Amino acid sequence: MQITVITLFPELISTAVQVGVVGRALERGQVSVNAISPREYATDLRRTVDDRPFGGGPGMVLKVAPTRSAMRAATEALPAGSRRIYLGADGAPLTQVKVAELASLPGMVLLAGRYEGVDERLLSTEVDETISIGDYVLSGGELPALVLIDAVVRTLPGVLGDEASAQQDSFMTGLLDWPHYTRPEQFEDMSVPEVLIGGNHEAIRRWRLKQALGRTWLRRPDLLAAKVLNAEEQSLLAEFKAEQG
Ligand code: SAM
Repeated sequence: MQITVITLFPELISTAVQVGVVGRALERGQVSVNAISPREYATDLRRTVDDRPFGGGPGMVLKVAPTRSAMRAATEALPAGSRRIYLGADGAPLTQVKVAELASLPGMVLLAGRYEGVDERLLSTEVDETISIGDYVLSGGELPALVLIDAVVRTLPGVLGDEASAQQDSFMTGLLDWPHYTRPEQFEDMSVPEVLIGGNHEAIRRWRLKQALGRTWLRRPDLLAAKVLNAEEQSLLAEFKAEQG
């Protein structure tokens, strides 16, 4: 997958993608991430990329022309079928389902806004969709772009050492993840649940599913409401609720 981020702060992107899972995917050539600034495409001497909003009010707005030139240059350099995405608080929420959809694309141009945002004429002509990473406002689209890149890249085939680990993550089955433990068995007055030490794989599977169901019921009832539970899941959730009193 080839990704280009349009940003006033390219170094923020190029530095952050060097580490961890995304960094390893870059080293192995499983993904490429470039960052380019609209400033490179500004034509005036001062390389202006923003201006005051029409209609008045505080802040600045990213101008159409330099940002559009950067978007077009990035899009032309990417494979056909690449998607142009604006990261904006007013977009559709980024979910694991959306991440899976994006992971099937050959490339993405990610536009990170700043200030009050981007001139709407650019968004309505050069952007395929707007994605938000949550119901809060950040100062720029760079962190949202990095969030999206991390979420997508870790699902690409061969990127994680153990493919099964991503399949077990929260949201993959419409549930939150179950609790995890590692050595030592006893830490201060806290022990590991007995079932995880017994080696009975079927009992472990059922315990984990029950915890995932219970945790989702406690913390994200909205997810549970959207999921159709089979008979085993219904009975495990009933057990969990009974144990909670
Ligand atoms: N005036 C905008 C609004 O109320 O939606 C906020 C602009 S914000 C200060 C600057 C930039 O940060 C936006 O152009 C967008 O690219 C990015 N941004 C802020 N919050 C975001 C979020 N929750 N998800 C994605 N991008 C966000």
